[in-house]
Amino acid sequence: MSIQVKFYGTRGSTPICGPTYYQFGGNTTCIQLTDLELNRTAIIDAGTGIRALGKDIRADTHNRENIIIVFTHFYWDHIQGFPFFAPAYDDTRKIYMLVLGKGRKMRNLRDIFAMQMQHVYFPVQLGSMGAKFEFLQVDKEDETFEISGDEITIAANRHQHPGGAYGYRFERKGKSIVVCTDIEHGENIDPNVVALAKNADLLIHDAQYTTEEYESKKGWGHSTFDQAIEVAEMAGVKQLAITHHDPEHDDEFLLDMEKKCQDRFSDCLLAREQMELIV
Ligand SMILES: [Zn+2]
Repeated sequence: MSIQVKFYGTRGSTPICGPTYYQFGGNTTCIQLTDLELNRTAIIDAGTGIRALGKDIRADTHNRENIIIVFTHFYWDHIQGFPFFAPAYDDTRKIYMLVLGKGRKMRNLRDIFAMQMQHVYFPVQLGSMGAKFEFLQVDKEDETFEISGDEITIAANRHQHPGGAYGYRFERKGKSIVVCTDIEHGENIDPNVVALAKNADLLIHDAQYTTEEYESKKGWGHSTFDQAIEVAEMAGVKQLAITHHDPEHDDEFLLDMEKKCQDRFSDCLLAREQMELIV
């Protein structure tokens, strides 16, 4: 049993383009998980990277499965690609928009997207896009979903971020992938994040800043490279993929940082757009 992880967006805060961003990419957060045995996928966040993912889904004419998008939170860089997600305009598609976890303060998940698609911002409104949407707010710490007779468990943990954000652990048949982005540990590593990531096969973790940069970015909701590695070490994860790259960090900077991270945690890499990992 294997799970493929594909990064469609690795940038934090705002999309960026230019020759010095070619290797790591400029689109904002969007990650695709595919269970290669079941041939089923889940999408995490709808940053601008989801536009290319939508094109890939449309090109795969054999796959007519329902689409699941799981949201960590709703800052712009995690929803900005949604209006450009081609399958959302296909009236034969069903799309589940899912959030999971205790302690959510939002009232209505649908309203978030209806607001984003208001006439003042965009020509097509949510109700006119075409696809059939189902908005699911699961007020539980974890939930098991049965797909084709198999069970997939998703556990959620609310972590520190100005607008609130959640880390997720996806688990099936003993394989586990943890996605923990837009997290600010602050002075001490959040023990709940370590617990969520415990012994994971792959931890995908935010590291927008260096330790020096963080000094002037406190309260912005992000981690440092050192903290991402610390979580990986404390949780005993097998592999660490660092993402949510700062728009100011170009390829040269990130390549250099990747080497430094690998000196400390050997099975570590910085996520690149279109990169695929098999877990
Ligand atoms: Zn973000």
